[in-house]
Amino acid sequence: MGLSKTIWTNPTEYLRTQQPENPVLFFAPQAVQALARTFLNGFPGLVTYAVKSNPSEEVIENLIAAGVKGFDCASPFEIDLIRRLAPDAAIHYHNPVRSRTEIAFAVKHAVKSYSVDSKTELAKLIEMVPSEACEISVRFKLPVAGAAYNFGAKFGATAEDAVDLLRTVAAAGYIPSITFHPGTQCTDPAAWASYIREAAVIAQKAGVKIARLNVGGGFPNHRAVGVMPQLQATFDIIDAVTAEAFGDARPALVCEPGRGMCGDAFTLASRVKAVRDDMHVFLNDGLYGALFEMGQIGIIDRIDVISAEGVPRHGESLPRICFGPTCDSVDRLPGDVPFPSDIAEGDFVIWHGMGAYSTVTNSRFNGFGELSMVTVLTQTV
Ligand SMILES: *Cc1c(COP(=O)(O)O)cnc(C)c1O
Repeated sequence: MGLSKTIWTNPTEYLRTQQPENPVLFFAPQAVQALARTFLNGFPGLVTYAVKSNPSEEVIENLIAAGVKGFDCASPFEIDLIRRLAPDAAIHYHNPVRSRTEIAFAVKHAVKSYSVDSKTELAKLIEMVPSEACEISVRFKLPVAGAAYNFGAKFGATAEDAVDLLRTVAAAGYIPSITFHPGTQCTDPAAWASYIREAAVIAQKAGVKIARLNVGGGFPNHRAVGVMPQLQATFDIIDAVTAEAFGDARPALVCEPGRGMCGDAFTLASRVKAVRDDMHVFLNDGLYGALFEMGQIGIIDRIDVISAEGVPRHGESLPRICFGPTCDSVDRLPGDVPFPSDIAEGDFVIWHGMGAYSTVTNSRFNGFGELSMVTVLTQTV
């Protein structure tokens, strides 16, 4: 995916003049910088960026320019990327399961912060990672709701096991910390409060004063017209509950947003290939492409539809079944999608808030997925 060096005024200007046949992501650098500043100014601790959500170099470079100094990496590829673009940045290797080859890679690249959720993987770290000035965060999970997608299904120790792990980390001479992830697109700030209170109980039961509490990612982006992300309110709750739950033993706070920092910096334009028998809308992008996440956490209803000439469609909203371009019948957006009733072949459908988990999940199944990226001054259609 190459970056076009031309900067366009807005998506409409590009679509009208270029008539792209393939999906296009529109990137607004000032939007990603503004999101970074929202976190840097509002979050009461260190802000790190979860690279996996969108590892485009343009995104990383703009985050660095805005002042982001830490990155959550999950693989040697991501560690390598960050060491190249931001040699002095803090790297947190927060994928709790790693092969020995991957651990050796991280040690060689001076990674000083790891997370862990099991005895076997902690034993590997103790064997291979020098403890000096090195942090190990114990990741735990709680059965709390609030997120669009439950991360606890794969990672996180029970609160009970976390107590033992934390004791072992401290006894082995590492800087002991705790981490959790409330689940992605978490629109309920109360989820963080439950986790923080439990983290204080775990530390207290273990008899360990933790250095840092990493409250994960999960901060939502703007996906539904009627649901604005409550970032500052969430930061305030995190701050207040940490003070209350930990008292004098208050740890430094860290967050690792992915979606919250990049999601609203991109819009995606897909094109209507056909409106089949006036019923089904077929797009040039779908669940095997940049719209992959809609199958996991639901559609984005922040949609604009414009004609090939760039004129907005204003027909009343009419929910339709919407298919992607591949020959697989799974390739259908969930539920019905609210398109204007006058949507027609050749139109462009512009989805807002598409920066996270879109470039990275796009596949080439059936020969589709030729996704390009275009820089715009503003995402306003
Ligand atoms: C995916 C992930 C994140 C980012 O999650 P978002 O929901 O995109 O904010 C942060 N931390 C860890 C450990 C992750 O796996």
